[in-house]
Amino acid sequence: MAKQERLALEAVHKAPEPVCGCTHHLAKHDNQGRCHERVEVPTAWDENKKPVRYEAGQCNCQQYVGPQPLSQVFAEELTDRA
Ligand SMILES: [Zn+2]
Ligand SMILES: [Zn+2]
Repeated sequence: MAKQERLALEAVHKAPEPVCGCTHHLAKHDNQGRCHERVEVPTAWDENKKPVRYEAGQCNCQQYVGPQPLSQVFAEELTDRA
């Protein structure tokens, strides 16, 4: 594997930020998994479907299921080294 590729892979594997699928940090989520991050919700669009007005809202994510299991990442690295 090219060195550049390996570096890119390592960067992906490190991913130290526990970020939810909604792109917000997991610290923004409560025990029930609800995200409390403030978001801007578009309420009006122009003819190009571009939002022209926003309303303050709350992220409606409820997908937090805990930290992702790391076993797959480790397995991949071991296979790669062998
Ligand atoms: Zn979330
Ligand atoms: Zn969120």
